[in-house]
Amino acid sequence: MEVLSVASEVFPLVKTGGLADVAGALPAAMKPHGVRMRTLLPGYPEVTRKLKKAERIGGFDNLFGHPASILAASHDGLDLLVLDAPALFDRDGGPYVDKAGLDYPDNFRRFAALSLAAAEIAGGILSEWTPDLVHVHDWQAALTPVYMRFGPARATPVVITIHNIAFQGRFGPQVFPELALPPEAFSVNYVEYFGDIGFLKGGLQAADAITTVSPSYAQEILTPEFGMGFEGLLSSRLTRLTGIVNGIDTDVWNPQTDPHIAANYGASSMKKRAANRKALSAHFGLDDTPGPIFCVISRLTWQKGMDILAEVVGDIVGNGGKLVVLGSGDPALEAAFQTAAAVHPGRVGMVTGYNEPLSHLMQAGADAILIPSRFEPCGLTQLYGLRYGCVPVVARTGGLADTIIDANEAALAARVATGFLFSPVSDGGLRQVLRRVFSIYRQPKLWARLQAQGMKTDVSWNMSARHYADLYSSLLAKG
Ligand code: ADP
Repeated sequence: MEVLSVASEVFPLVKTGGLADVAGALPAAMKPHGVRMRTLLPGYPEVTRKLKKAERIGGFDNLFGHPASILAASHDGLDLLVLDAPALFDRDGGPYVDKAGLDYPDNFRRFAALSLAAAEIAGGILSEWTPDLVHVHDWQAALTPVYMRFGPARATPVVITIHNIAFQGRFGPQVFPELALPPEAFSVNYVEYFGDIGFLKGGLQAADAITTVSPSYAQEILTPEFGMGFEGLLSSRLTRLTGIVNGIDTDVWNPQTDPHIAANYGASSMKKRAANRKALSAHFGLDDTPGPIFCVISRLTWQKGMDILAEVVGDIVGNGGKLVVLGSGDPALEAAFQTAAAVHPGRVGMVTGYNEPLSHLMQAGADAILIPSRFEPCGLTQLYGLRYGCVPVVARTGGLADTIIDANEAALAARVATGFLFSPVSDGGLRQVLRRVFSIYRQPKLWARLQAQGMKTDVSWNMSARHYADLYSSLLAKG
């Protein structure tokens, strides 16, 4: 089975969040299921710079006003197609925002171009390769199925995966004439969304199957609280919607071989974690008193419940705990954690920014990872936590609820617990769960059991890859 995957970020080339991890790991995970996946992504400078031996295999004289090439290349086991369109993607800032953190004003054009190129590939413009099926991710690739419906690839099955329904790709109606779509696409059946243009909206309407990244989130987005306006559309397409939980790359995230940590360890050599605790403490300027170290590796946003966490820092420290935060985002939240670090020297540490190697050391050296998200489609950091014996303390929502088994008495006795779940997602809920965490941390045998159970959990792609393969097969069988 030949599959074209389309994503706006792909690890290890370019990453701002979990989407990149998934798009980067899926091709290898699908291989054992007879799926050959090629991944189309934009040629941002950080991508083209890393490519070796890229070969032009196709292109466009005029893609939204500019010439563009499709380059074939491989990188770290990934079979890539890169949309090299310097006018659209060769920019100084990040993939979506400029250096000042503002959305590029032509994002609609940049990602329409990605989607149109994907649709053209599905329609056969590359003489050497045409996919049997297309799998697109998030709003940036979501116009692909819309373009396909109006072009030669109209019969090729398309899967769209929602990694976070909060990001919808909504633009004013004035952009429509620039999208190179026929007038009938400006309708409720395609991209029209309350008078605006909705990229994700169009993709959800035009795709043959919709997936999201956990079964609980698939349920939640059918409700007004989590659907963010799409609950009605999704309810009308319910039979097309499934939730498939993300896996992680267990080679990249393996405490036994991880090059980014101070000491490698496994389930049977947990004492070696102490060296990572030491290195972590040194990095964040923590003192070497005992007590649990909690870590946070996150975008600092309202979604991630970081305002709630900021409220309870005093409780963590007051109970003898410590907190290390790595992240960036909302300036007020960055400032709140920087202030907390200044108020509690040796007890709270904060690194602002994005730092992949440090995130590994934190999972290896901290005792617990805190994830108080208000909503969480899947979440990856709790899965890394399981694998590293860094016990997840998570909000009972979405993929967090699907991947962690709460350490209640029954689950502890049955030796199946892997972390802590809490609700409501409020400072009160978080304070309450922290009391449980401290109580179990003071019982080293129970804590070690939690860590061991987490490390035994299968967080690989094995199961989920099978689900995707079954979905692809069922769509191809229908065709
Ligand atoms: P989201 O995609 O909503 O941001 P996920 O938990 O699905 O959340 O994925 C976040 C990914 O980004 C994880 O791989 C996490 O380790 C990583 N990450 C988040 N913030 C940082 C940071 N400041 N430094 C390094 N890695 C980070």
